[in-house]
Amino acid sequence: MRCDLQNPNEPIDPGTSQFVSAASLRARLDWFNKLRWGAAAGVFAVVLIAGVGLKAPIEVRGLLLTGGVLLLLNTAYFLRSRRFKAVDIAIELRLVKVQMVGDLVTLTVLLNLSGGVENPLLFLYVIHVIIASLLFKGREIFQIAWLAIFLFTAEVFGEYFNLLPHHHLPIAGEMAHELPFILMTLGSFWLVILFCAFVGALIMRHNRAIKDELVVHQSVLMAEDRAKTDFFRFVTHEIKSPVNTAQSGVETALDLGGESLAPSVRDVLERAVSRLKQATKIVQDLADLTRGGVLKEENLSQVDFNDLVTATVDAQRDLAARSGIEIRLLLANPPIMLTTVRNMVETVVANLVNNAIRYSREAGRVSVRVVDTGKRVRLIVEDEGIGIEENEQGLIFDEFYRSTAAREASNLGTGLGLPIVRKFVEELGGTIEVDSRVGHGAVFTVTLPRKSRKRRR
Ligand code: ADP
Repeated sequence: MRCDLQNPNEPIDPGTSQFVSAASLRARLDWFNKLRWGAAAGVFAVVLIAGVGLKAPIEVRGLLLTGGVLLLLNTAYFLRSRRFKAVDIAIELRLVKVQMVGDLVTLTVLLNLSGGVENPLLFLYVIHVIIASLLFKGREIFQIAWLAIFLFTAEVFGEYFNLLPHHHLPIAGEMAHELPFILMTLGSFWLVILFCAFVGALIMRHNRAIKDELVVHQSVLMAEDRAKTDFFRFVTHEIKSPVNTAQSGVETALDLGGESLAPSVRDVLERAVSRLKQATKIVQDLADLTRGGVLKEENLSQVDFNDLVTATVDAQRDLAARSGIEIRLLLANPPIMLTTVRNMVETVVANLVNNAIRYSREAGRVSVRVVDTGKRVRLIVEDEGIGIEENEQGLIFDEFYRSTAAREASNLGTGLGLPIVRKFVEELGGTIEVDSRVGHGAVFTVTLPRKSRKRRR
């Protein structure tokens, strides 16, 4: 059987099995087709040799008729497969179900004509259930299993209660120690065992192929991600010093010019400084975002989280006061000591508080809370500002993303603060969540471990 992998460029339809495509299903159907030729040939051979050749008292006509029906059905499947290309996975799956139900009914009729419960070939039901488990998903596999159980139980009790005729298998029962019966039992036992081993090996090969494919995809993605980071790092490095030089040059010109500068010239220079400060911020943010391997053992230190949050908030009180914003600080009691990278935590707190102030409404309130949750510590930054649309809440952690409302509120902003926050929080072993209602404000909750350690990749 061919072991087709889903084409990685082909979207996977979650309504169907994720391991099969229409073409791979058709390949399997063709394989069952071959198995069925073999099964029909087996029925004819055994019946003709035992019943006609050796004149054993078996249901020759009934068995040959059932074998003939199997042959006819298989010919129909075969012709259909040749005539129509496999395009729709749902149609192929329906066809597999029809074939499987047909096979189970045929097997039950064959067993009924050849001893029923006396016949060791009843193991063949197991093979059908295994095939079903290869092709279908949970509920459908059980449907096939229950159909097999129902058919054979009905056959056995049908015979028991004389609703169905019993065709004694001449080599069974009193002949349990005779070679033909032993060989027949062993034969079906071998068949089932080998089939199980074959199917197991096939599944494993298939899984390994999928795993290999995933590993290849993952390494390609990782290489692309590294290339992107390297590019950012290169650009940051290259533009850092020209931007700094330009900013200090314009600032110096402003200082030197002093009062002698014409108001229009001063205005132009001041706007240039403001834009250059923005560019410096972008460069700084990009540097933070692309910096790797900060979480090293030697960078870890004991940090009083209450103190760190207080100092970071205090540094932004002037900015808040300019818009009449009040910042409320609620610290943990007793204080919490973290083993962490101080400047990473500072960056996280500073960015969140800064955003809360910038996206607040005029004279709004920002609350910053530190909560001790036992093994972890939680920082909750809440504001009463513009808020974030629900469909944008997942996007604001993407590089350069700025919500429509934020862009309308201010054109200052890089869209790099939250990606940095998320990167640092994750490196420190923490999590970040956002909750917001447009026009009512936003709540950012960061949870950090008391002790950060370098994670194995
Ligand atoms: P910046 O603030 O520089 O645009 P950030 O990465 O810090 O970049 O934030 C990304 C976006 O997330 C912002 O542009 C804004 O749309 C949204 N955002 C972040 N914090 C808040 C907040 N407290 N209230 C409303 N929107 C916010």
